[in-house]
Amino acid sequence: MSCLCCSFLVRLWLVGLTALVSALSPLHAHALWLHDEQAIMGTSVRVELWHEDAVAGKAAIAAVMEEMHRIDGSMSPFIPSSELSRVNQLAASRPVAISQELFDLITRSLAVSKLTGGAFDITFSSVGYLYDYRRHIKPTEAEIRRALPGVNYRHLNLNRRHRTLRFGRPGMRIDLGGIAKGYAVDAGIELLKKRGITHALVTAGGDSRIIGDRRGRPWMIGIRDPRRRDDMVAMLPLNDTAVSTSGDYERYFEADGVRYHHIINPKTGHSASEVRSVTIIAPDATTTDGLSTGVFVLGLEQGMALVESLDNVQAVIVDKQGQMHFSQGLRQAANRDAVAPGE
Ligand code: AMP
Ligand code: MG
Repeated sequence: MSCLCCSFLVRLWLVGLTALVSALSPLHAHALWLHDEQAIMGTSVRVELWHEDAVAGKAAIAAVMEEMHRIDGSMSPFIPSSELSRVNQLAASRPVAISQELFDLITRSLAVSKLTGGAFDITFSSVGYLYDYRRHIKPTEAEIRRALPGVNYRHLNLNRRHRTLRFGRPGMRIDLGGIAKGYAVDAGIELLKKRGITHALVTAGGDSRIIGDRRGRPWMIGIRDPRRRDDMVAMLPLNDTAVSTSGDYERYFEADGVRYHHIINPKTGHSASEVRSVTIIAPDATTTDGLSTGVFVLGLEQGMALVESLDNVQAVIVDKQGQMHFSQGLRQAANRDAVAPGE
């Protein structure tokens, strides 16, 4: 992984969708650029890569898709037979033996919880499950009050020696929706690296990771306008990094002038309302995914302060008025780029 400011090519180009489309279209024209897109994990998973050998390239893409299906099968709260569903059924009454993979991802989730002072918390689901965004269902205040004691990552008791998880409170649930897509993207990227691939993009919904560049040009990752579905507010030229965006426009409904969306403030049990979107750039997608959700809950001031305190982490935050805010590293790189000779 090369250093953030040198290799990210963080020139910030404020453009519309047209520019995004024109930036991507050459991929389809070149025979050795391969891509596929599938609906997995409740979102669109896309893999693009460069390979000298089309058969080997297609096999690599298929392997990534298969890996995504595998992770979804074990970590989805919506699949009754998943390992996660089993944990949610049993862990309030006894310690449940879990796979090393689930143990490790929960451990990483707890680290993000500590870093964000509990803003990121996979036990949000103890109250979060009461919302149904598709059917416009939300809990009453009394229901939230009853469920909130189950929201607290400190009540997740992991036993490393026996590799078990036990919930410390009745009514607790976990949901890895804020970090598992990034984890799956990282797993896909590892598979591609093992196959010797040096130019690739793996995206699952708002979570992406990139290997290398697009052969002489950066990859262009767009940040969506949170209020205009088909527009972009910024294009980030990126190489060799991960990037995640969390937004209040992904899954939501409106009632009585309030936007009920899928990112929940663990303290209140309500949708977090401080900002409209948070984009995080960092070396791996598990980190960017967890942090984008956590920083969304923290809001502009606290969230940006956290980002500035971390090495190798940058952010773009769209606040509740629609204003964009860039972390210092991005601002510096954009200024440097603006005065770079030969441009
Ligand atoms: P993302 O798009 O990565 O921000 O993920 C949003 C998803 O994260 C939601 O659909 C929930 O599954 C989950 N989530 C919501 N609120 C939280 C929270 N406070 N901490 C951790 N995960 C959350
Ligand atoms: Mg996330």
